[in-house]
Amino acid sequence: MIRVGAMFVIPSDRFDTSTYSGAGNEPAAYCYENYPGGIGVAKKVFSVWNVALAKGVEIAASCRCSSGCQNCIEPARSWDISNANIDKVKGIELAGELLAAVERGPDLKVQDGLLVLI
Ligand SMILES: [Zn+2]
Repeated sequence: MIRVGAMFVIPSDRFDTSTYSGAGNEPAAYCYENYPGGIGVAKKVFSVWNVALAKGVEIAASCRCSSGCQNCIEPARSWDISNANIDKVKGIELAGELLAAVERGPDLKVQDGLLVLI
């Protein structure tokens, strides 16, 4: 959703970036450029990722499709991956939880060398 939302937040088009996410031991999402050496788009996305994600959620939620399409969440180019595992509803829920956590801010801080609840 960040990839789709980014096009509306920074100057870029749908083929400038790709995303990859995994839910292993260390869940992570990556946004990377499709050009060797990059053209600066990913760096700009990193600086406004939450705004781009919120826009992507808005686009996905308002799309008429039920399970995700190339207009809302599917990659513009699916190189060697299947879109069968993309879940629009769960993606919107997860993005909403992530944005809410960012809005709340950190719940731990370092105090006297220890992590403590804020
Ligand atoms: Zn759609």
